[in-house]
Amino acid sequence: MRGAAGADESRVFERRESAVRSYCRRFDCVFDTAEGSVVRDVTGREYLDFVAGAGSLNYGHNDADMRAALIAHLEQCGIAHSLDLSSSAKSAFLAAFESLVLLPRRLDYRVQFTGPTGANAVEAALKLARKVTGRSNVVAFTNGFHGVSLGALAATGNRHHRVGPQLPLPGVTRMPYDGYQGAGVDTADLLERMLRDPSSGLDAPAAIMLETVQGEGGLNVASAAWLRRVAELAHDSGALLIVDDVQAGCGRTGTFFSFEPYGIVPDLVVLSKSISGYGLPMALLLIRPEYDVWQPGEHNGTFRGNVHAFVTARVALTKFWADADFTAVVARRADLLARGLAEVADSVPRAVPKGRGMMRGVDVGSGELAATITRRCFAEGLMLETAGPYDQVVKVLAPLTTEDEQLQHGLDILLAAARGVDRGPDVGPERDLRGSSGLVPA
Ligand code: PMP
Repeated sequence: MRGAAGADESRVFERRESAVRSYCRRFDCVFDTAEGSVVRDVTGREYLDFVAGAGSLNYGHNDADMRAALIAHLEQCGIAHSLDLSSSAKSAFLAAFESLVLLPRRLDYRVQFTGPTGANAVEAALKLARKVTGRSNVVAFTNGFHGVSLGALAATGNRHHRVGPQLPLPGVTRMPYDGYQGAGVDTADLLERMLRDPSSGLDAPAAIMLETVQGEGGLNVASAAWLRRVAELAHDSGALLIVDDVQAGCGRTGTFFSFEPYGIVPDLVVLSKSISGYGLPMALLLIRPEYDVWQPGEHNGTFRGNVHAFVTARVALTKFWADADFTAVVARRADLLARGLAEVADSVPRAVPKGRGMMRGVDVGSGELAATITRRCFAEGLMLETAGPYDQVVKVLAPLTTEDEQLQHGLDILLAAARGVDRGPDVGPERDLRGSSGLVPA
């Protein structure tokens, strides 16, 4: 009955839902239940979910322990909404975050609960950096993605998102990300020169904001040397270093924070997506204490503390981050994934494996080809999305908890799909158009 009703009701999406809907166009079925890395549609068909809520489901769907804690909280009439009032759920989360995430890493951050999306927390970071420094300009990078509200959008490169508001998107200077100008060019040289040169036209920045792995921008990985140098340049020029760890954080690259292996300590860190552990909306801005200069309520919002998310987030931290076991498992799966994707890349002419940790994919050279491959995968029961300026990167964001056999099964489907496609004409030159440079066409 449910299946029949669902199928019938599905027409309501075309009838009523805005044309802005996107993922549902690619995965054209009505989803119903999910567990771990598997989702089921209303007809009972199962799919391996390697989209994972665009990185919001690092621990898979409906983790049994998080679900039990949430149900217990609901059944005892635990607080559901509390503005930013203190609650037992919030104190339990903060204490777990302090003891399991901050202290073991010798990090000292104040935690700001912003509105519950990544963009909300990015807006808070930009505003705070501007307040701290008294400067307005922010350096962001080609192919960066930081959200689509106006302040965050100014820092986002992708033209598809940027032209929507038909407004100037001020306050950001775009610089080339690591590797943007090819392997032989260190783009930090240009940044350094422009920061030092009083006549470069680059206004002294309030912040330099970056992703260590660009999730939406095509799984571009910044090198350790580049990241360290940019961190130094931020420090030397009096700018705050903001690491946007919305997608790369919470274990996605192998460590809790994506910047951990490089020994850099950002001034501000943005976290969202998988911080609740359960796919519930939640976002944090981590602030080095000396920069926590907000006046009470100066940056506020009705939904700053999602109490249900605090409940599941605490369980996620205690279950997965109390020791090094999970990190070791993720490292093993990341190797499996890297090997599988290297094979996929070998099967497509000029394709290149991309990414780091469990944040990986394959640049197959054209959006059309990537779409064909992901469509074939979906027909075989595997959900994958695409990234990059031309959507030319087939992206694998499997939950970190995906069993090895499931991961291998997904990779087998992807490999078969990549081998089976008709590639059509060579599409190489498309890459040079730089659709995610942040330059809006005249
Ligand atoms: N920053 C990064 C790195 C992201 O990947 C995203 C979302 N893809 C955002 C910010 C914006 O998050 P949200 O969609 O929750 O506003």
